[in-house]
Amino acid sequence: MGRHRKGNGKRRQALGITEVQRSCVACRVKRTATELLRFVRGPEGLLGLDLAKSMPGRGAWLCPKPGCLKHGLQKGAFARALGGAIVSTHESLIEEVQTILVDACKSRLGLAFRAGQLVAGREKVFTGVNENEVKLVICSHDLSERTLRDVSGALLKYPQVPVFVGVDQLATGAAIGRGVTGVLGVSGRDFTGPLTTILSTLNEWMGWSHLSEIKSDLLGTSAPVMGASEPSQIGDVSPQRSV
Ligand SMILES: [Zn+2]
Repeated sequence: MGRHRKGNGKRRQALGITEVQRSCVACRVKRTATELLRFVRGPEGLLGLDLAKSMPGRGAWLCPKPGCLKHGLQKGAFARALGGAIVSTHESLIEEVQTILVDACKSRLGLAFRAGQLVAGREKVFTGVNENEVKLVICSHDLSERTLRDVSGALLKYPQVPVFVGVDQLATGAAIGRGVTGVLGVSGRDFTGPLTTILSTLNEWMGWSHLSEIKSDLLGTSAPVMGASEPSQIGDVSPQRSV
């Protein structure tokens, strides 16, 4: 068994899957480098997001949480890790990071669409999942709770297909050169891999947890559902933004 695991690790390494563990500069929690954001310090003392995690020099790792960014700046953790004072404010950085993550997500969607590896609209997505073509489903965060429930419910029998919350319907449509679009299905590992990484990060950064709440509700497990008594509010809930 041990040998098997070792071999698997080597294979993952050969595939270029980063499993290196890093600590968040703010809360010190250890996670894989894939799950964390990397920041670098510019010559003027500005803190910049290194989305590709490949810029030379010192880097500071951070959970994709606005709260960790604020905390890390306030307690001087970035300055210590990067060897120089930081002049950026957390307000401007929180906005900047959000823009970079949303843009990265949109550009990945555009690439998948142009490569013919993306379908839009509920019916096409369900057909694609059923035919084992679609490997990843994305629902815009501003879809109605009813639509989110319908989609989550229909996909419950396909637990191997992850469902992420994505950018709003207008931005999603613009990314693939269509009108307002809220439900997408992606196929092809070249596209699902990078999208999984960016969407996991974006979901955590934005505090988009409505899908997992709906899912546990549908499955009858007792996860706390925020605003459960006010279902019309669920599309606007972004619990982690109160930093
Ligand atoms: Zn953290």
